[in-house]
Amino acid sequence: MSVRDPELAAFAAKAKRGRRLPSKAACATCGVVERLAIDARGDVRCYAHLGSNADAVELDHWLGRVTSPDTVIPLRANAHRRVTDLRRIIGFDDLAPVNGDPLLLLARILEAIASLLVLFAEWLVVHVAAVNSGVARPPFPVAP
Ligand SMILES: [Zn+2]
Repeated sequence: MSVRDPELAAFAAKAKRGRRLPSKAACATCGVVERLAIDARGDVRCYAHLGSNADAVELDHWLGRVTSPDTVIPLRANAHRRVTDLRRIIGFDDLAPVNGDPLLLLARILEAIASLLVLFAEWLVVHVAAVNSGVARPPFPVAP
């Protein structure tokens, strides 16, 4: 199946992953319930723990690799995966090349910030739920 619309492709990929996972699946290492897959041993792991690296951090080229290859922020792997999915959905990668145009640069900055704001808002919701239920708080998406 080929889906050209990025939002539909993201939903299709999520649905496909979900069909293979047990109901109420969570990462066997950290308990995260999103961005899950089954590892080679048959255990459910989140994106960050598929490689068995508990503190996986990835550099996010938040303005895009072409626009500013050295402008990066360190994000936890699951957060980087989520923000990448968000940018795909909003069409970040389909923006016209900046090529020195300040308005196109502003558009890219605003879309990048929008995706990070959604990421941080989602973290706050999970953080508050964890505090209210007395379970471990999720780490902030930006790595120290
Ligand atoms: Zn995990």
